[in-house]
Amino acid sequence: MKLAVIGAGEMGHGVAELAALHGHDVRMRDIKTEYVDRGLERIRWSLGKLVEKKQITQAQADEALGRIHGTVDLRDACRDADFVIEAVFEDPELKRKVFRELDEAAPSKAILASNTSALPITQMAKATKRPQKVVGMHFFNPPMLMALVEVIRADTTSDATLQAAVDLAKSFGKTVIVVKKDIPGFITTRVLGPYFERAAWIHEREGIPIETIDAAMRFRAGFPMGPFELADQVGVDVLHHLIVNAHRPMPRSVQDLIDRKKVGHKVGEGFYAYREGRPKLTPEMGQAFDPIRILAPMVNEAAELVALDVASPSEIDEAMRLGTAFPKGPLATADDLGIDVVVGALKADKDAKPAKVLEEMVARGDLGVKSGKGFYDHGSGGGTMTYETLLVAHDATTHVATITINRPDRLNTLSPQVFEELDKALAALGEDDGVRCVIITGAGDRSFSAGADLTSFGDISKAFKVWRFSRRSEEVVSHLANFSKPTIAAINGHCFGGGLEIALACDFRIAASRAKLGQTEVNLGLVPGAGGSQRLVRVLGQAKAKELVFLGARLTADEAASIGLVTKTVSNEAFAGEVRAFAEKLAKQAPVAIRLAKVLLNRSGDIPIDAALEMEAMAFGLISSTEDIYEGLQAFMEKREPKFKGE
Ligand code: NAD
Repeated sequence: MKLAVIGAGEMGHGVAELAALHGHDVRMRDIKTEYVDRGLERIRWSLGKLVEKKQITQAQADEALGRIHGTVDLRDACRDADFVIEAVFEDPELKRKVFRELDEAAPSKAILASNTSALPITQMAKATKRPQKVVGMHFFNPPMLMALVEVIRADTTSDATLQAAVDLAKSFGKTVIVVKKDIPGFITTRVLGPYFERAAWIHEREGIPIETIDAAMRFRAGFPMGPFELADQVGVDVLHHLIVNAHRPMPRSVQDLIDRKKVGHKVGEGFYAYREGRPKLTPEMGQAFDPIRILAPMVNEAAELVALDVASPSEIDEAMRLGTAFPKGPLATADDLGIDVVVGALKADKDAKPAKVLEEMVARGDLGVKSGKGFYDHGSGGGTMTYETLLVAHDATTHVATITINRPDRLNTLSPQVFEELDKALAALGEDDGVRCVIITGAGDRSFSAGADLTSFGDISKAFKVWRFSRRSEEVVSHLANFSKPTIAAINGHCFGGGLEIALACDFRIAASRAKLGQTEVNLGLVPGAGGSQRLVRVLGQAKAKELVFLGARLTADEAASIGLVTKTVSNEAFAGEVRAFAEKLAKQAPVAIRLAKVLLNRSGDIPIDAALEMEAMAFGLISSTEDIYEGLQAFMEKREPKFKGE
């Protein structure tokens, strides 16, 4: 395709490079030769870096560069263009003028797209005689690395134009979220707005230090940067511009920095000075500030977008995750926090008014995870099955399911019923393509499982019955060990006997520092069952396993970590978050590759090496037939996060 990129600045040169690397011919136009040359020089430098890192070959870099032609002549730039992408300054008057000129210069077949971050596309469309051929294409900085493009439908955009913009962004290897209505700020700029602006007002009115707010948002809410550090990165001038364009009041701290020309990282100083690198913040510094004060207004914006049918909750969350690094996305976060809790926080904020849609959800009792329904359905995972001894929850956004052994009244939780239900839950979650990682844990914070509930076995003098139960529990634990997706034992408390046997069958064991672990059956005159006599040896080696079993030792979490019995130990406070983060990482991996790798690793040592290596070669053959392998390689080249489909 023939592309014209208008503007060779921060975004223009990046879009031109991206398009050329994906095989399109590009003409890049700026108003002065020196600006064009600087843009070309930045592209040359960036391509060189990619070659240096072996992400592309020198020949690919040369070809890409050969496809880009710089010019100051608008007619020359637009000659023959199929598609024009405008990336000039964020100024509504200038944008309209440029669109009028583009309409004159570009062939009538050409589609005209704007890379504005927030300005209405419809106004630009109306400056042309082809409003149906005008569309928004919001790239993120830097375009080469950021995975997202928001494609915005102006009031006048035709279906064909919208589709062409979606197809073009996809041809660049990007994830596309279609913004169905032309509202200022689209999804990402609009929902991110309060992140900085609320923070600035709270700082200004209540005198809460910027370090406190930034530390809370970074360490407690999980954002990569707090709002003030982010403002310095984006440029205080850029945010100033956004607030002016949106006709919103200006926080004094922002105006003050503009007046003193301290516009952020690019000039060495903004809210922070950058002589010694990033601001030095610690988790303790954020303790005094509750992140919900900033999260709630962001949720409010996102909820309004759902009500306006701008995009679906999962699209909004995905756009926010990819475009702004919002850890889970605002609406999944709202479901976690509780919709009632979010509304409560908004009511306590005199500058906010809860969106009607949120109030209606509270009235209906759709409160999020705790009620089973919020912006997402949190109904029982594992199909429609209900369990008496387990809680099975499935987060559709992160693809992580959690099985909780739900007998909080008992430490020794394992009954025949628990094993039967565990088997059913595993079978259902194994079938469910929406589940990519399973966490197993115990209810409450006292016990993962302290082993078999001997009261539930009936008559233990009948050797035949005990043998049958033992064999059956071993069978279920083997199903867990060979489960087709990665598993994590989240060891929140006591983990003894059968509890440890379940944990040993998981791929990973993460222990809270309060946890205690042991293969303690001999203390009761029993022997380890459910695979405990075998799996423990594979994890620890024979001598350590014997020591543990013969002595019936009870280890602390740290002792268990020191001998490799658990993958890692985490403080009690950080436990749930760490387990979740680890599970989400696993869930992002390519499902088929993980499944095959798990089979190979599980079998390692069990079968003759020749046969094992044959299996490995076959796995390689099999994996080459998946779509995921192409996605993985492409994402690697483009330095973005892959999106595996498990196909
Ligand atoms: P920039 O200042 O780096 O570049 C703008 C370029 O446009 C300059 O080189 C300027 O000389 C050129 N220009 C001005 N008038 C022109 C004209 N009539 N014809 C051709 N070139 C002209 O700005 P930027 O950061 O690249 O932003 C460009 C657009 O992208 C804005 O709409 C901005 O909101 C949007 N955007 C920016 C970012 C970001 O992080 N920088 C991210 C997403 C979107």
